[in-house]
Amino acid sequence: MKRSNPKKRICKSCGKALKGIKRMNAFSLRKINKSFKRVNRKYGGELCTTCSREKIIETVRK
Ligand SMILES: [Zn+2]
Repeated sequence: MKRSNPKKRICKSCGKALKGIKRMNAFSLRKINKSFKRVNRKYGGELCTTCSREKIIETVRK
């Protein structure tokens, strides 16, 4: 049985595809390292580089 590849993770604010995160289904995600699931950064795995930079600067300024 061939499973379809899950969709790419996208940035929550701009909708761009995120880099550095494996496309896997929930079952195989449990077996792999945490570093494959998200980028080691604040908002890693949620926002893309430009959006996370803006967000971090925004939170610092407040
Ligand atoms: Zn973005």
